[in-house]
Amino acid sequence: TSTNTSSIIEHTEKHGARNYHPLPIVISKAEGVWVEDPEGNRYIDMLSAYSALNQGHRHPKIIQALKDQADKVTLTSRAFHNDQLGFFYDKVSEWTGKELVLPMNTGAEAVETAVKAARRWGYQEKGIPKDQAEIIGCHGNFHGRTMTAVSLAAEENDTTGFGPMLPGIKTIPYGDAAALKDAITPNTTAFLFEPIQGEGGVVIPPEGFLREAQAICKENNVLFIADEIQTGLCRTGRTFACDWEEVKPDMYILGKALGGGVFPISCVAADEDILGVFDPGSHGSTFGGNPLGAAVAVSALNVLEEEQLADRSRRLGEYFRDRLRKIDNPMIKEIRGKGLFIGVELSEPARSYCESLKEKGLLCKETQTNVIRFAPPLVISEEDLDWALSKIETVLAK
Ligand code: PLP
Repeated sequence: TSTNTSSIIEHTEKHGARNYHPLPIVISKAEGVWVEDPEGNRYIDMLSAYSALNQGHRHPKIIQALKDQADKVTLTSRAFHNDQLGFFYDKVSEWTGKELVLPMNTGAEAVETAVKAARRWGYQEKGIPKDQAEIIGCHGNFHGRTMTAVSLAAEENDTTGFGPMLPGIKTIPYGDAAALKDAITPNTTAFLFEPIQGEGGVVIPPEGFLREAQAICKENNVLFIADEIQTGLCRTGRTFACDWEEVKPDMYILGKALGGGVFPISCVAADEDILGVFDPGSHGSTFGGNPLGAAVAVSALNVLEEEQLADRSRRLGEYFRDRLRKIDNPMIKEIRGKGLFIGVELSEPARSYCESLKEKGLLCKETQTNVIRFAPPLVISEEDLDWALSKIETVLAK
């Protein structure tokens, strides 16, 4: 029952599988953008649980919604109706402009759902011969850890020792519209992409790629499916990252911040002609659409609206990048991002920078070895951001 950092880490590692390599810090309390370790040291969270904490830690309104609903009913399964799910559907439909919504729990499950919907749509609506449907993904994309998701990404690290991969998947270089055009066959049912690659290192495709890719998909009757699990819900300074190119995908895949940082909740949203392919019994989830998650998600979306967090992300993101660009360090190769979704690419590994930032009170995690990702909760105040920037300047200036 020790309560200091090193004994907690030792305890945690005793029976834990080793599929993560966390920074050596234990978080035992959190509020807003700040987290605290058992010794009482405070840190600013610059990762936001991979953008699942856009509303900040324990947002009071979201916690209240959680508590209120916990006092009524938490789980019904979908064998019965519950009185919260309709409000969740309304809200997601309003946000996405789509007619139908299908709730799941984690991001990877929502990706699975999108792939199943796309395949069925391909057979029923497009007349693709049985078991011949193809889905096109992109090199370096990240869609989660299930077999379908790793098959789509096809990165060596994610797939080694897990074969065989799911058939019917092709990948093209990210941001390459000509390659997309070449990869499409009469059996292609969907193009599934991240509008900005998150785990890939905050990689923004060339300007115009999304518009061009959408036009190619339209011409070929191929579904254009956006995984906005990390980039959506105000993170990049717009409601969805696709909004930067004014494109409306045929299907949105959402997760992370949909659960307001307290509950795993994900979904896909599309119109009747696509999501209508599911009939009773063809897909589902015991926990998907549960009343506790539905109430939390409605509150999570309300907070993003009420606090105008897309605008805040856009404004503070510009300021953040301007300050970063003034840092003089020849090791900085590129500073990129949209809103408070920022990648600093170095010409050396980023881990030691992340460790130094931690010593100064900032938590971030390297992605793709050489990239530091800065993605604080969107509720961050100007004062806290300035404090964080002063520490970043100290660590990055050489
Ligand atoms: N898709 C994207 C773009 C993601 O960034 C992630 C998680 O990082 C996922 C899917 C998988 O979500 P989850 O970890 O909730 O399964």
